[in-house]
Amino acid sequence: MSMLEVKNLHVSYGEVKAVKGISLNVKQGQLVSLVGSNGAGKTTILRTISGLIGATQGSITFGGKELLKLGAHQVTRTGLIHVPEGRMLIEDMTVNENLRAGAFCRNDKSAIEEDILEVEERFPILRQRAKQKARTLSGGERQMLAIARAQLARPRLLMLDEPSLGLAPLIVQEMFRTLSELKKSGTTILLVEQNAYGALAIADYAYVLRVGEVVAEDTAKNLLENRDFLDAYLGEQ
Ligand code: ATP
Repeated sequence: MSMLEVKNLHVSYGEVKAVKGISLNVKQGQLVSLVGSNGAGKTTILRTISGLIGATQGSITFGGKELLKLGAHQVTRTGLIHVPEGRMLIEDMTVNENLRAGAFCRNDKSAIEEDILEVEERFPILRQRAKQKARTLSGGERQMLAIARAQLARPRLLMLDEPSLGLAPLIVQEMFRTLSELKKSGTTILLVEQNAYGALAIADYAYVLRVGEVVAEDTAKNLLENRDFLDAYLGEQ
């Protein structure tokens, strides 16, 4: 059964129809990727699921609950956590304070401490940088902090918008490896990426988007076998 179900979603910015009747599903434990070139509507879909912008038509259910009626804070409380493009760290707070900010919905203090230890084990650099201000981190460290902070919210579903953006190629590989490990440890993930081949390599299932529509959906394995098709839609990457 689907955990997240988006049906016939339409989203407009004034006259601009950014999302034109998209449907997609994420099942528990899956890593699902949305890939597509610039302007395909990927960010708009995540922002609509998160309650940051409204839809003109359609439905979004999470664990059977309709999300379109909820505001962004209420959506977060359902366990759907969004790591936006640009990472949105609290720049003047330390790494440790940023991690704690991720647990703002929780009051189980000892479990929060355990989770901090766990993410520091997963991302040792964050322990080394614990007292450093977020603004002093490198691009890769910032992305790891954003993913780790989202873990502190104990997400039922983690949505990531372009986590590879602005990272050096080696760090991109490390970031994709981290997401793959998170998935293996049981986190359900909806991943938006322009780096389509990187995202497909770790996904179970994927949707290929083009100017607001789904042009293909399949297991990531099947999509990757059809490279000519992907290149036609995504451009050589
Ligand atoms: P990218 O990978 O370049 O970020 P994307 O697939 O995430 O692209 P969106 O950012 O969702 O695409 O944009 C989809 C369409 O909506 C684009 O045509 C874009 O110009 C338009 N759009 C996005 N945000 C706004 C806005 N605030 N006002 C008007 N149009 C917008």
